[in-house]
Amino acid sequence: MTRVIGKRGDSKLGGDSNSTIYNVPTTKGKNLIFFGNYEWRKKETINNDQIQVWGCPKKTCPARAHAPIGDVVHLVVKTDHNHLPSRTKHIVRERKEQLKQQARENTVLPPRELISASREQLTDEQLISMPSYSSSKRTIERQRIVPERLQVDVQNPLEIVLGFLMDF
Ligand SMILES: [Zn+2]
Repeated sequence: MTRVIGKRGDSKLGGDSNSTIYNVPTTKGKNLIFFGNYEWRKKETINNDQIQVWGCPKKTCPARAHAPIGDVVHLVVKTDHNHLPSRTKHIVRERKEQLKQQARENTVLPPRELISASREQLTDEQLISMPSYSSSKRTIERQRIVPERLQVDVQNPLEIVLGFLMDF
């Protein structure tokens, strides 16, 4: 599971207020973090293995950040990325809206299926920006409140009739 490593101490990196550092589990190992809308991968160590150098997964990007070994929270960006951040925020917003719409249109489908459909074909960094499973489930339930209430209203007169008949 993706987990939050911590908040970055250094605030010199402008452009994004999101200073949370995430660890991103990957199939190839745990050497990927996500910070400020960019992915960072472990590169070489320098200063007699005192400093871990982090770089961009994009080969053409010169971005570099330094952090003491085992202390990624004190990441300091040395060279910026030469490209825009990912479209993650936009895509995540889009998927949330889709989930709401699906919840209203398919009122009998289990939340589990709607949620897994809303997460299909997302990248690691998009997935960690998606709402948690339980929060998505609450979203679905909220969207379905209206039809449920209508059903209850329809059932109520019947229950009154039944209750009346049972009295005899
Ligand atoms: Zn980059």
